[in-house]
Amino acid sequence: MTSAPHLSTNELAERLGAFARVCDVVSTKTISPSLREVVLGGAAQLLAGQPGNDVMVRVAGGSQKFVRRRFSVRSLDAEQDQFTLWITTEHDGPGSDWARRAVPGETVDVIGPRGKVLIDPTAHWHLFLGDVSGLGTFYRMAQSLEAPRRAIFIVEALLVGFVGAALGWVLGYLLSRGLASLEFKTPFSDYNHLPVLYSAKHYLLATGVALFSSLVAGYFPARAAARLHPVDIIRGAT
Ligand SMILES: Cc1cc2nc3c(=O)[nH]c(=O)nc-3n(C[C@H](O)[C@H](O)[C@H](O)COP(=O)(O)OP(=O)(O)OC[C@H]3O[C@@H](n4cnc5c(N)ncnc54)[C@H](O)[C@@H]3O)c2cc1C
Repeated sequence: MTSAPHLSTNELAERLGAFARVCDVVSTKTISPSLREVVLGGAAQLLAGQPGNDVMVRVAGGSQKFVRRRFSVRSLDAEQDQFTLWITTEHDGPGSDWARRAVPGETVDVIGPRGKVLIDPTAHWHLFLGDVSGLGTFYRMAQSLEAPRRAIFIVEALLVGFVGAALGWVLGYLLSRGLASLEFKTPFSDYNHLPVLYSAKHYLLATGVALFSSLVAGYFPARAAARLHPVDIIRGAT
């Protein structure tokens, strides 16, 4: 660990009631095309907190500015004084950029521990819902559960549901417009167009059904995935 954190880091940490330290990048590794592992060294136990906690890292934000990004702690190695972050490289923002470029030996300001979503020791099972950026904390929390408590992971399933629902709105609307514009003649009625009803209720109902189906479709593979090794799951899923 080197030098002292930037003044703004110390001030922010004080406001947040957390600790501010300078950490070294110990190693980096690509886990999958969308996930990069960054291991940081220094004040690990102090910053990493409990399963579910995250840290705030000060990274370059372009045009000589710095921004802060929060990353959940994937694991803590108190003996080596190191903690691990799993960071998505799917975005063009400063956080993803830092994860792609970080090299061993460089230093970063870190504030931690942060976050209030922790394991409930009395719960029989925990459901972890999120996208790839949540995997690190899901695994850390799941690994801290003692048998017979269970963890269920549903990663990306709802995202698929949302995208499906949004595409469905557009296609449904265009199809309805197309049907409404068709002219026809019939001897049985004065109508020469199909009566098409546009109602927000129908769109909401369709969204609910899409989200529910993707949740159900994600649940069973997620149960099976919960029995596999984390790295094997990610390699297979991305
Ligand atoms: C409590 C907490 C814990 C977090 N833990 C992690 C973690 O362990 N690993 C991790 O990779 N990230 C985590 N994040 C998100 C992280 O802080 C960054 O937002 C993310 O890594 C992207 O940073 P960025 O600077 O590259 O992009 P940003 O500048 O933050 O965002 C760029 C664009 O991508 C969009 N975007 C950002 N994140 C997502 C997302 N997950 N899904 C869809 N769109 C998104 C933004 O809306 C924006 O349009 C956490 C956030 C919080 C609040």
